[in-house]
Amino acid sequence: MGEDDFIYWQDILDAIEGGKSTSGLKCPFCYEGNILVTKKERGTLVQCDRPKCGHYIEGRFRSEDVADG
Ligand SMILES: [Zn+2]
Repeated sequence: MGEDDFIYWQDILDAIEGGKSTSGLKCPFCYEGNILVTKKERGTLVQCDRPKCGHYIEGRFRSEDVADG
């Protein structure tokens, strides 16, 4: 995962950070996959639900993620 990927995910990360639903958002790479958001022990995993796409980003995108650690 590089800086470039982060730019692609930005709109989705903004929605997550703002506590909005991502149900209406599509994967910024394949434009078909839905976005899965999984709370991890330290941070949040955001991924495309299409296995053949497989793009994901993991980090602390939400205020509660930052507060955890
Ligand atoms: Zn995708």
